[in-house]
Amino acid sequence: MAVKADFHMHTNFSGDSSAPMEDMLHRAVSLGLSHVCITEHYDPDFVYAPGEEAVFELNTDSYLYELLRLRQKYKDKITVGFGVELGLQPHLKRQLAVYAKSYDFDFIIGSSHLCNGKDPYYPEFFEGRSEDEAHHEYFLSVLECVKTLPYFDVYGHLDYVVRYGPTFNEKYAYAKHADVFDQILTHLIENEKGLEVNTKGFCMGLGQPNPCAEILKRYHELGGEIITVGSDAHKPDEIAQEFDRARSLLLECGFRYYCIYQSRVPEYLKL
Ligand SMILES: [Zn+2]
Ligand SMILES: [Zn+2]
Repeated sequence: MAVKADFHMHTNFSGDSSAPMEDMLHRAVSLGLSHVCITEHYDPDFVYAPGEEAVFELNTDSYLYELLRLRQKYKDKITVGFGVELGLQPHLKRQLAVYAKSYDFDFIIGSSHLCNGKDPYYPEFFEGRSEDEAHHEYFLSVLECVKTLPYFDVYGHLDYVVRYGPTFNEKYAYAKHADVFDQILTHLIENEKGLEVNTKGFCMGLGQPNPCAEILKRYHELGGEIITVGSDAHKPDEIAQEFDRARSLLLECGFRYYCIYQSRVPEYLKL
C-alpha cells in the first residue's frame, strides 16, 4: 500500500500561499490520492515582525464556500476535507474554543508557530542561549498548549522549532527533552489526540520528518495509534512529497495504520 491521503496543505486562503485550491486538487488527483484535507492557517493574535504582512488571518466563510464548490466538482475523483491549522497560544483559550465549534470541520491540526509570543522562525529566538535551551522553552510551551487547548484532533509538526535553529537538528536529540516529550505524548494519548507526521522536515533537509523518528517510536511505545500524514504543501508540486519515505519510517517505528478524518472522527487505513 501507499499513503493515499494528504492531511496538511494550504491554498491561497492562507496568506503564505498563492496556490488556487483547484490547482492543488488537480495535482492531488494526478498523483492518485484518494483524500486530501485542506488545512488553512487560523493563527489569531500572531506576533508579526515589523513590516511583515499579517498572513495568518483567515476568511473562513470564503474558504468554506470555495471548498464546497470544488468538493462537488471533484466528488468522483477525490474526497476533500474541510480542515484548519489552529495556531495555539494559551491566552487564546476562549477564542479557539468558540472558533473550533463555529464550523463543521472535518479535521483540526493544533500547531505552535509561536513560543511565549516569540517566533522561532527568526534567529533572535535562539540568541543569547544554547540551542538546547531554546528548544526546551519551545517544547515546554507545546506542553502547556496541548494541556490547555484541547480543540484539535492531531498535534502538528511537533518539533517544528528544530527547522530554524543555527545548526538545525544536528545537536537535537529526543533524550535531551525526554521528560517533556513523554508528558506531551502521554497527554495526547490519554485524550485520544493524534500526532501528525509532517514530511516538510524531509524536504528541508533534516533527514527526518517533524516530529523525528525517536518521537514517533516513543508515541507508539506509549500506546499512541493515531497518525496522520501531511506534506504541509503551499504549492501544488509539494503535495504528498516524501510520502513513501514517511511510510517506511512509520512501519519501522511499529505503526501499521495511518488515519484520515471526516467530521472529526478518525478512520484507520493500512500503511
Ligand atoms: Zn504549521
Ligand atoms: Zn501548515
